[in-house]
Amino acid sequence: MTTAAPRANPPARIDPLGESAQYVRGVGPARFELLQRLGITTVRDLLFYAPRDYEDLTDFRPIAQLQPEKLQSVVGEVVEIDTRSTRRGLAVVSVLVQDGTGVLEAVWYQQPFMAQKFRPGQRLVLSGKPRRSRQGYWQMAHPRVQPVDAQENFPANETPILPIYSLTEGLRQEQLRRIIRNALEQYGDLVPESLPEALRQARNLPTLRQTLHWLHHPKTLEEARQARRRLAYEEFLILHLALAHRRRDVNAQVRAPQMQLTRLIDQRIRRLFPFTLTRDQERAIAEICRDMAQDRPMRRLLQADVGAGKTAVAVYALLVCVANKHQAALMAPTEVLARQHWQTLNNYLAHSRVRRVLLTGSLSEAQRSLALGEIRMGQVDLVVGTQALIQNDVEFHRLGLVIIDEQHRFGVLQRAQFRNLGGDGRTQPHYLVMTATPIPRTVALTLFGDLDVSVIRQMPPGRQPVKTKLVPESQRPELEKYLRAEVEKGRQLYVVCPLVEGAAEEELVGDLYDDWSEHTQSRGRNDLASETARYKGAEQHYEYLRDGPFRGLTVGLLHGRMDERRKESVMARFRRGEIHVLVCTTVIEVGVDVPNATLMVIEHAERFGLSQLHQLRGRVTRGPVAGECYLFADISNDLCRTRLRLFVQTTDGFELAEADARLRGIGQFFGTRQHGVSELRYASFVKDGDLLEQARQDALELARADPGLRQECHRELRRAVLERYGDKLDLAEIG
Ligand code: ADP
Ligand code: MG
Repeated sequence: MTTAAPRANPPARIDPLGESAQYVRGVGPARFELLQRLGITTVRDLLFYAPRDYEDLTDFRPIAQLQPEKLQSVVGEVVEIDTRSTRRGLAVVSVLVQDGTGVLEAVWYQQPFMAQKFRPGQRLVLSGKPRRSRQGYWQMAHPRVQPVDAQENFPANETPILPIYSLTEGLRQEQLRRIIRNALEQYGDLVPESLPEALRQARNLPTLRQTLHWLHHPKTLEEARQARRRLAYEEFLILHLALAHRRRDVNAQVRAPQMQLTRLIDQRIRRLFPFTLTRDQERAIAEICRDMAQDRPMRRLLQADVGAGKTAVAVYALLVCVANKHQAALMAPTEVLARQHWQTLNNYLAHSRVRRVLLTGSLSEAQRSLALGEIRMGQVDLVVGTQALIQNDVEFHRLGLVIIDEQHRFGVLQRAQFRNLGGDGRTQPHYLVMTATPIPRTVALTLFGDLDVSVIRQMPPGRQPVKTKLVPESQRPELEKYLRAEVEKGRQLYVVCPLVEGAAEEELVGDLYDDWSEHTQSRGRNDLASETARYKGAEQHYEYLRDGPFRGLTVGLLHGRMDERRKESVMARFRRGEIHVLVCTTVIEVGVDVPNATLMVIEHAERFGLSQLHQLRGRVTRGPVAGECYLFADISNDLCRTRLRLFVQTTDGFELAEADARLRGIGQFFGTRQHGVSELRYASFVKDGDLLEQARQDALELARADPGLRQECHRELRRAVLERYGDKLDLAEIG
């Protein structure tokens, strides 16, 4: 305590926790270097450095009741100290301890100095994982030892639960514990409370000072849990405050055209659908129409399981907009999908007078400028195209609604570019994003934290689940024979490969999962070159199928490296049934609809994420016949096997997404781009769903009550929001 410089109350604007960690006792220049390797530079970093686990030394037992290989503690008296060496010359210090119920031997290897630390008759607490020695008594190797007084079971100033921190070479657990303890002693009382008092109490959370104490020195695991819980809540709160500030409706100035839904409009739209809308579709439509009736721009996400019918919902919204005398635009991520949407729209609108245009990269210069002119003059009501087109030179006439079918290319950051779409700064179109990737609700609330969410989960009636099977390699010839027979009866088949080219290169196509490369690296190179490389590349596999098992049928090839024209012509031939078997990469993952294609084979299924597999499988749910999906996979890895079995058993995309989150964490849902979410230290999207919901609601409430977080009691929250998300979410001007 003596070396700690006494601190007067700092002036209000100075942030003592922002000081260099070097000011903490026990941190010299060398230690500071080591701390920096752990990402610690300031006192705040030290105070908030999260233990990765705790050592629970509270399981005290009489020696006679010890259990093997579990961390336990005993209190006993030293009866004998002995130094010997093994046959191989290893120095062994052995300390015998007894407690009246039995004897335990503590041993240290290659630490002869340990013999000096003890004397017979001394009382000790020993903690470790005991093992039975060959002679039948208990042994603890390198236990944690603390001397205690005669009456004590534990040293008074020690906690029996010790934090375990992640370390770096050159820094020992004990040292870091001491440094953090010093930081708490020196700065603990200067930690400003970050939560408004009323909120903290309402949520039943400990104060921040209490929290930090419990985090690093809990007396019970429950205290540690409470501490983590408060910090997790706060992380979610800060994240959602940042997201709330991105929401347009915080910015009250922006207006949008109000769209009325009359009974007549509703009837006219419904007449276009050859089916009755499902309950989920109805709910989504109601939510969208409610939003569009406001004079604030809608910012909504429509999330649907594959094949659940979001296109119909989109069409409904587009037509409400057109009926209200505004232009509407539908944007797709690829040209193939833009064309497909165009066809779908044309089917629905066959008997309607809605004027529409398809804007794609393959229009001639003349066609394009004609189309642009019509759009600008308000001579068309509905524009379909790729996102690229809307970002460039298209000038709209009273644009009222933009629907972006971004499929799985989602994320808060990616959407930033659409902020000022087609508006004049004061008015903006309504905005609906559609995604076909089921993601866990907690993740959706965050990835799309700046949007409201509608979900379509229910399938249209009569839809049959895809029969999914994992096929052993030995049954390949049999399956090929069966598929050939089915194709000859008139069905069509997709064969999906993970790569464009096989053996030579490891370049991945589509959104393959990050951990795949680790997976490959951990396997032998030879291994890869021979057996796994087979059936991997679409090009080789195409040749194999064309010249082998499917000889005489028309086999087509489709992958992302082909140019748009080629792709479109292959797709068109497949759609018309001229191509029987389509060998492809994940390019077909997103939204391609060919009802007659009801068969699918996925090669190397272990290489795909569950959600991605589910998307692929969704391609064969389109027709009246039940789809069939066959997987070939390397399931030597336990995780792969578990995941693929789950995939075979479960047809609900949302359930799969939750399971995938549990099995593989949520990083996968965030894509490769930097997203602040990856930096959450205490909060878990999988375990803390309830906290997240609560924090999100509280954040919305706070943002409404104090949009700029200007009130004194929000100062710390404001600081935290800007520090963590200022750059990432472009929040320079909160409020
Ligand atoms: P996705 O959500 O995957 O985009 P789509 O909108 O493409 O789904 O719909 C999948 C198929 O289901 C389409 O063929 C569509 O005509 C059909 N469909 C959509 N809604 C219904 C419904 N309510 N009843 C029957 N069929 C429907
Ligand atoms: Mg679709």
